[in-house]
Amino acid sequence: NVKKTETIFQDGNHKWVAIVRDPDKPNYLIDTNEYLVTHGGQGMLLDPGGAEVFPAVFSALSSEFDPSALSAIFASHQDPDICSSLALWLEFNPKMRCYVSWLWGSFIPHFGGTAETFVNLPDEGADIALDGLTLRAVPAHYLHSSGNFHLYDKVAKVLFSGDVGAALLPPGEYGLFVENFDKHIRHAEGFHRRWMGSNEAKRRWCERVSQMEIDMLCPQHGAIYQGADVQRFINWFDELQVGIVNG
Ligand code: FE
Repeated sequence: NVKKTETIFQDGNHKWVAIVRDPDKPNYLIDTNEYLVTHGGQGMLLDPGGAEVFPAVFSALSSEFDPSALSAIFASHQDPDICSSLALWLEFNPKMRCYVSWLWGSFIPHFGGTAETFVNLPDEGADIALDGLTLRAVPAHYLHSSGNFHLYDKVAKVLFSGDVGAALLPPGEYGLFVENFDKHIRHAEGFHRRWMGSNEAKRRWCERVSQMEIDMLCPQHGAIYQGADVQRFINWFDELQVGIVNG
């Protein structure tokens, strides 16, 4: 089984490829989106996914880019669906770097890698170079993980937003982009209320990203927000009360 790949941005060898929708994936696994950013001869894979979906992601990625030429992995946080495939990717390029929050720098190595593999990102974020392109790790702590980063490409105007913006879509809803915001956001509400831990962190994130130029907001689950839906999402998120459990 192979996932679908869709190029969502291209300017010469500067590319963003979304790796999405595996109809053959067993239902007990949450559906994930992986993203590949390429520039020049280098490629970085964002939230590469779990060990379980590795074969599907690997074959999809291989149709776009030589996996042994991947120079880096970016892990928004520590979860199994984000980076439990790490050791499998490193088999193809042991020199690959993995960018993670310093907070997770000694936990994620339990998934694989060596001391040289990990680049610890400080809380305030950092620039990450990809063959002449500068990407920015943007702080998103407590959204939902205590050490959490998003990745911004100011040239492509793409923000990879990890679990922020995620929606758990019913079977059959496989559109790559959000088509009807009001309908879509119903599938995001319960997820954000429960998984996002801090209203204060959320307020700061909304303020920060409102000041950035974003054409596409790309979450790790569900569909991509583009155009006016980006600000629509930020406004919706800003209003939502999160960190609530009825238990
Ligand atoms: Fe997560």
